[in-house]
Amino acid sequence: MRRTLVAANWKMNGNKASNEALLEAFKKGFDGSADTAVFPPALYISQLAESLKGTDIAYGVQNAYFEEKGAYTGELALSMVKEFGCQYVLIGHSERREIFGETDEQIAAKVEATLAADLIPMLCVGETLEEREAGITEKVVKTQIDAVLKKVGIAAFEKIVIAYEPVWAIGTGKTASPEQAQEVHAFIRQLLAAEEADVSQRTRILYGGSVKAASAEALFGQPDIDGGLVGGASLIADEFVAICNAA
Ligand code: PGA
Repeated sequence: MRRTLVAANWKMNGNKASNEALLEAFKKGFDGSADTAVFPPALYISQLAESLKGTDIAYGVQNAYFEEKGAYTGELALSMVKEFGCQYVLIGHSERREIFGETDEQIAAKVEATLAADLIPMLCVGETLEEREAGITEKVVKTQIDAVLKKVGIAAFEKIVIAYEPVWAIGTGKTASPEQAQEVHAFIRQLLAAEEADVSQRTRILYGGSVKAASAEALFGQPDIDGGLVGGASLIADEFVAICNAA
């Protein structure tokens, strides 16, 4: 009942030519077994809009601001994101939290504004290595999700995609084992179920952190893993196509 979703997070990589080559390979290669979405650097959204016209491949931005307009130099409004045909907004990626100091409160405000703009928030949560070693993974993830629950309420989670991304697995080549990931995914679903069982069954929870073609099938086969958010491997055409088709 939850269709697998696989998303490509290109981060700050690519150029017009390399983007086009990847998109052409995605269009040719995807077999339709999963929903797919691509998050390019925002400057290239128009290129994706053009290239992906008439396909089932969705796209979105890696970040946007929660205010509607005004003196916020360097930021993007959600109305702008919407105007260019985006469906998704990545929110609270660990790189945004760590490098750019985004707080749980700002992230919750972004989720709320994204929903108000009729876009789908892809909310990223996850613990650092120190937090995992200190045995507080669940506490950390709960705090991150609670901030959003408090702001938008459980019903909104029908329209939110969660991406569980253990920070120690991002870009490190150390994928969480399917069992490790499943454990946290089940915990997240329980958190939602404690609020509203029906919603918890419909919310898609993706895994992110060094997903590769070789690990995708076992991860996606776990009962509470509904797809992936893929960084490095989404910049390699064959690899990303294989991940999507592993669904
Ligand atoms: P990775 O990145 O696949 O390169 O680990 C995942 C992410 O940061 O979304």
